[in-house]
Amino acid sequence: MSVDELAGQVEQARQDYEALVAKGLKLDLTRGKPSPKQLDAANGVLGLSGEPVAADGTDLRNYGGLHGLPEVRAIFAEDLQVPVGQLMAAGNSSLELMHDAVVFALLGKVPGAEQRWADVEGLAFLCPVPGYDRHFGICERYGIKMIPVPMTPEGPDMDVVERLVAEDAAIKGIWCVPKYSNPDGTVYSDETVRRLAAMETAAPDFRIFWDNAYAVHHLTDSPAKLADVLALCAENGHPDRAFVFGSSSKITFAGAGVAFFGSSPANIEWWLSHTIKRSIGPDKINQLRHVQFLRNADGLREHMRTLAELIRPKFDAVDKILTAELGGTGLASWNAPAGGYFISLEVPEGCAKEVVAKAKAAGIAITPAGATHPYGDDPTDQIIRIAPTYPELPEVEAAITGLATCVRLVAGEKLLA
Ligand code: PLP
Repeated sequence: MSVDELAGQVEQARQDYEALVAKGLKLDLTRGKPSPKQLDAANGVLGLSGEPVAADGTDLRNYGGLHGLPEVRAIFAEDLQVPVGQLMAAGNSSLELMHDAVVFALLGKVPGAEQRWADVEGLAFLCPVPGYDRHFGICERYGIKMIPVPMTPEGPDMDVVERLVAEDAAIKGIWCVPKYSNPDGTVYSDETVRRLAAMETAAPDFRIFWDNAYAVHHLTDSPAKLADVLALCAENGHPDRAFVFGSSSKITFAGAGVAFFGSSPANIEWWLSHTIKRSIGPDKINQLRHVQFLRNADGLREHMRTLAELIRPKFDAVDKILTAELGGTGLASWNAPAGGYFISLEVPEGCAKEVVAKAKAAGIAITPAGATHPYGDDPTDQIIRIAPTYPELPEVEAAITGLATCVRLVAGEKLLA
């Protein structure tokens, strides 16, 4: 494009932006929340029929059952790729379990550890970027140094990961969202999972925090397959390396679902030795309501297909509008994920914050630029996370059209400068 052509396009973007601001929009694409229609589709989970007893006759109204209800663990075990006996069903939030796992490891030795993580000088975690801000929040809260590792289309850059963990025993963990990652929708390749399971780590107590939050959240009819991290860790002589997390937050109700923790038998024993001190057992009535609603693993998958029907049009709309507005301009690139909750929009260097600020001034709330990186600092200021599930389709369309206008304006002006 010639300079004159570019100047003409920027002028057009300025006019479009003025018109956008004049509309006085009030739209919100900030957080990945289920829409009211998705929640309505799960309303069956509100009712309880019959006696509140487990299949083995246990009265679920009483204390006990620290492992969680076996029936709900059986429903999720296959998709979370954890043997039922090694999968715990807990409270309403998997983030809470990740937080607790970090705190338990800080205050008490994980299996294989020489010392508590709180006593490790320079304690650090690897953070594939872009990633999930709340993972980074846990590290920041507890003073754990975060080392960014670039994501590739196959997962974290394993050459970097292998080099870092081999040379520094203070690196104790890595955050992974292995399927339909937040925010770029990446599915880890089999080779990435194998290398994570097999790599030599200087720390004998290295842990993979395997946050499989989107294990069943497919947007297409051909669900992505993920290699079995627990089995691969065991096969490669590191049986205690992976902590698996998941929840039904984006399956039934966000904040009123069931969360899961799965790992090796030794890690489960360690986990229970801590959780038994903090609770006499989870909410088994909620777990039973989930069993009655989902029935079994096939019922879970069927429900996920219903939810996919509701959110796929929103993801399609984002891709269609971005393609129409920005395709071929060289001003942005983005992914069209096959599952999960997010789309990651990449703009030219130094533009993301300004795009988000311009969108905000036009009444379109977007997740703050930088949130996808440790300490909220995207060093090249390029990544914008789009969360299209919550608003209704016309709102998604209006918000993305407006966002594209902001990209044309900010990135165009930058190119012209
Ligand atoms: N993990 C990831 C990757 C997420 O994106 C989210 C929510 O957006 C969570 C965990 C939160 O899960 P929960 O509701 O089970 O705490």
